[in-house]
Amino acid sequence: MSKSNYRGRFAPTPSGLLHAGSLATALASWLDAKAARGIWLIRIEDIDLPRVVTGADQAILQQLALFGMTSDEPVVFQSQRQNSYKEQLEKLHLQGLTYPCNCSRKEITHHIQRQNGSNLPTQGLIYPGTCRTITPWIDPSELNHCRLAIRVRLPRDDQHQLLRQTVGDFVVRRADQIISYQLAVVTDDAQQGITHVVRGADLLDNVARQVWLQQVLHLPVVNYLHIPLVLSPQSEKLSKQTMAPAIWPPNPLATLQFLYSAASHLGIQIPNRNIQTVPEWLQSAILAWPDRQPPCAITF
Ligand SMILES: [Zn+2]
Repeated sequence: MSKSNYRGRFAPTPSGLLHAGSLATALASWLDAKAARGIWLIRIEDIDLPRVVTGADQAILQQLALFGMTSDEPVVFQSQRQNSYKEQLEKLHLQGLTYPCNCSRKEITHHIQRQNGSNLPTQGLIYPGTCRTITPWIDPSELNHCRLAIRVRLPRDDQHQLLRQTVGDFVVRRADQIISYQLAVVTDDAQQGITHVVRGADLLDNVARQVWLQQVLHLPVVNYLHIPLVLSPQSEKLSKQTMAPAIWPPNPLATLQFLYSAASHLGIQIPNRNIQTVPEWLQSAILAWPDRQPPCAITF
């Protein structure tokens, strides 16, 4: 089979093991890549060290391997890519698109309350741009030592109006020197040549920020597919915070059962044949993927 240009990835944070929700996301991105005869990569997003659980990265790789999903190229670890992130941050800075911000969450809340007559907007805290004009320009050589958060300066033009209204000037590097999720992901996707991102619908509101960063950094814009989240019986998103159980199938039959559940969540009908092994199951799933009927898949 000839290879296509498709390059996809699954990028878990090693803050715990895979649960039913992350398995469905991994499977969706794997199937989308394989149905397109593309490359599928695993990237470990271990940049936010306070959230990282020791050993979780290797455990996740083992879990994925049990379900027949292995990276087509060496696994990339974000913790080893600091220099690339710093380079991209500097590029933003040299375009005059960044400024340091010293505001605490409390100060931002007070500022918004003063502007809106004590009403806080329902969609969360949108940074009102307090520090835009008051903090001094930092020399690029000082950028990496700056102890303040670094925000981007969103343009005023109509095209980006929505981003300004719904997100505001967002942080690209935190005060603790950790590069933001948005900037790290955009840097990695470009460097790994990613063309398609398939991920959970909880990340849908990151798209506008990531596409804006891709544009100003002159990086290729990626295609995004967001799949519906797997919810707990209490209709909460499955996550480590909601104590979603890790999936460790005790035997091959249980492994297939987990895959069938993930497939049914993704709206894939696997023909009812006598499937015995994971590779056999995955081949059927690849064929079924283009005809899936997810309850509410969100494409961007
Ligand atoms: Zn500020």
